[in-house]
Amino acid sequence: MKKRVCILYTGGTIGMRSTPMGYAPDPGYLAQTMASMPEFANPEVPDYVIREHSPLLDSSNMDPRHWLAIARDIAAAYLEFDGFIVIHGTDTMAYTASAFSFMLEGLAKPVILTGSQIPLCRVRSDGRDNLITALMVIAQAPVPEVCLCFGNRLLRGCRSTKVDAVGFQAFDSPNYPDLGTIGVGIRSHLDRIHPPHPANGLTVHPLSSARVGALRLFPGISAELVANVLRSPLQGLVLETYGMGNGPSENLTLMAVLAEACARGVVIVNCSQCLRGTVDQGGYQTGSALARAGVISGRDMTAEAALTKLIYLFSLGLRPAEIRTRIPQNLRGELTEADAAT
Ligand code: ASP
Repeated sequence: MKKRVCILYTGGTIGMRSTPMGYAPDPGYLAQTMASMPEFANPEVPDYVIREHSPLLDSSNMDPRHWLAIARDIAAAYLEFDGFIVIHGTDTMAYTASAFSFMLEGLAKPVILTGSQIPLCRVRSDGRDNLITALMVIAQAPVPEVCLCFGNRLLRGCRSTKVDAVGFQAFDSPNYPDLGTIGVGIRSHLDRIHPPHPANGLTVHPLSSARVGALRLFPGISAELVANVLRSPLQGLVLETYGMGNGPSENLTLMAVLAEACARGVVIVNCSQCLRGTVDQGGYQTGSALARAGVISGRDMTAEAALTKLIYLFSLGLRPAEIRTRIPQNLRGELTEADAAT
């Protein structure tokens, strides 16, 4: 039987039009453009309905309230469809994909985020391929995960990151292999799929307004700046460190600032500025100093996954000590646990 897909259109370049101020979303325009393209009516393409969000957004304007609205739409239509496509701007797509991975517990159907670098109405748009491929993945190789389909790649949502502002291969999954191979055929790699949580169907975990942030270390960063960032009411911080998770251990004032914040319950997660590889706070003295201060290893998580995981864990109402325990654990396939690392 033909698959049925629900397309949730939230905004992004794919449905934009040129305006004197640059590209901007325009209600109804994406559906109109798709209706004018015969390939979307091809019998091989699954049946789909488009549900347009209002207002349509450039994804730079998205925040956790929008994530929740989309997640609730998926839950409301969950039983009616075989899979979901979320059309989304590329700028924050990896954040939304990561957030959905935590918010949508017990997911047993594909939720695929996609979009494009060039609007669908333009002759060289990559949106046509991205959208058709996402539809065909649901028809032929459904993966019961939150995925990101872009530039002929099918990536785990919470492992993805935007790596190119202009190229058609805009996303990568530096620390986890693709969930599918897209070429002449479309094939999913079932051995790479994170087993669905044995929950009773889909549960949407709403996100609260947890006070979390991210800070990238740089040579010469002052203890004062870090202290200001860590001030109350901050609850959690993704600290983007060097290499294997190293920081300026000889700046004792800065180390004391981190230790003081950890002691008052701020959860600080160590993620590397490097795209590939894992944090190992025992590898160098400059990393073990962070561990001694109370900083938790984020292992090979992307900064997007670490940030949204912090929001999710705080939203569950957990105490900092419990969140510290869960951060290095693999909840949705977002990290490689210590004993499983190669
Ligand atoms: N600024 C756009 C957005 O993220 C870029 C895109 O869609 O590719 O919404």
